[in-house]
Amino acid sequence: MLDVIIIGAGPIGLACGIEAKKKGLNYLIIDKGCLVNSIYNYPLNMTFFSTSDKLEIGNVPFISHGSKPNRFEALEYYRRVAATQELEIRLYEKVETINKEGEHFSISSNKSTYKAKSIVLSTGFYDYPYMMNIPGEELPKVRHYYDEPHPYFRQKVVVVGAANSAVDVALETYRKGADVTMVVRESDIRESVKYWVRPDIENRIKEGSIKAYFNSDITKIEELKVTVKTPDGLIELENDFVLAMTGYKPNFSMMESIGISFHNDEYKTPIYSEATNESNVPGVYLAGVVCGGLKTNKWFIENSRIHAVSIMDDISKKS
Ligand SMILES: Cc1cc2nc3c(=O)[nH]c(=O)nc-3n(C[C@H](O)[C@H](O)[C@H](O)COP(=O)(O)OP(=O)(O)OC[C@H]3O[C@@H](n4cnc5c(N)ncnc54)[C@H](O)[C@@H]3O)c2cc1C
Repeated sequence: MLDVIIIGAGPIGLACGIEAKKKGLNYLIIDKGCLVNSIYNYPLNMTFFSTSDKLEIGNVPFISHGSKPNRFEALEYYRRVAATQELEIRLYEKVETINKEGEHFSISSNKSTYKAKSIVLSTGFYDYPYMMNIPGEELPKVRHYYDEPHPYFRQKVVVVGAANSAVDVALETYRKGADVTMVVRESDIRESVKYWVRPDIENRIKEGSIKAYFNSDITKIEELKVTVKTPDGLIELENDFVLAMTGYKPNFSMMESIGISFHNDEYKTPIYSEATNESNVPGVYLAGVVCGGLKTNKWFIENSRIHAVSIMDDISKKS
């Protein structure tokens, strides 16, 4: 019987493992993909907005070439942390069901079944893209994850969305030779776009090098074109690829299946104690970005590393 099972080997799941080990708890971290699977799936050229010291976990120093590390440096760092801290991790193992059995939990993955006194859900938000639910979304030219600009050279690309990832993708593909059109539901680029990036996208749109349709929705995707509903009516655009940067959401069905309740707010924020991160289900804790529900920019590595300490303090006090 484990004291705690940590679901998700992202930065925060790893931080939880480190704290569990410090407290002498019998723990295991499980991830359905590779180590720090979400970061692995980020755009290849991404640079973090945080400086490397703010991404450190377990007091292991993170030294990067510039003050803000890139994806490759972060992957190297978290691999080093997992190795030097000798963390107990099972990778490529997806947790499918969690059941309460008397005083403990039974956790079944596609590979095994475990029993644990408590559970930490540090499952992030990067696995479920918001679907547009329009005809043609299933075509291979439609992508909800973006890795690099090269495939889009001299291609007619529609970027859907106006938050940070959509803006980054529009600028990067434009600079690598794509013909970019943004389709934006709102009337402007999102307020939350990084302040040092905003003037760049606004100026590219103003000068016409990136085209943008605001207050508009893509309504149909076909092999060679897309249909867009604009304030001036329906238009058709020639198109090779649709990069739907529409955002992602946490795995609510897993939380619901364990009995976690949610605030009645627009973000479907899960209910948990701010002091201990324990949810309304005794023994089930929430850590990292999953704590924000649909407000996926509320918690990030910088400000949620601390969850690991409060959770493991509470588990160790109770055990
Ligand atoms: C482009 C980009 C740039 C960013 N830059 C920064 C930055 O500069 N600074 C910062 O602080 N934050 C940044 N963030 C946010 C940060 O990456 C996330 O906040 C962070 O990854 C959250 O960590 P986490 O451990 O909570 O979740 P994640 O890193 O998402 O980890 C969740 C893990 O759970 C696993 N998982 C999910 N379901 C299951 C299951 N059923 N069974 C087993 N495993 C499962 C997933 O495979 C994944 O590995 C950025 C995000 C993006 C998209």
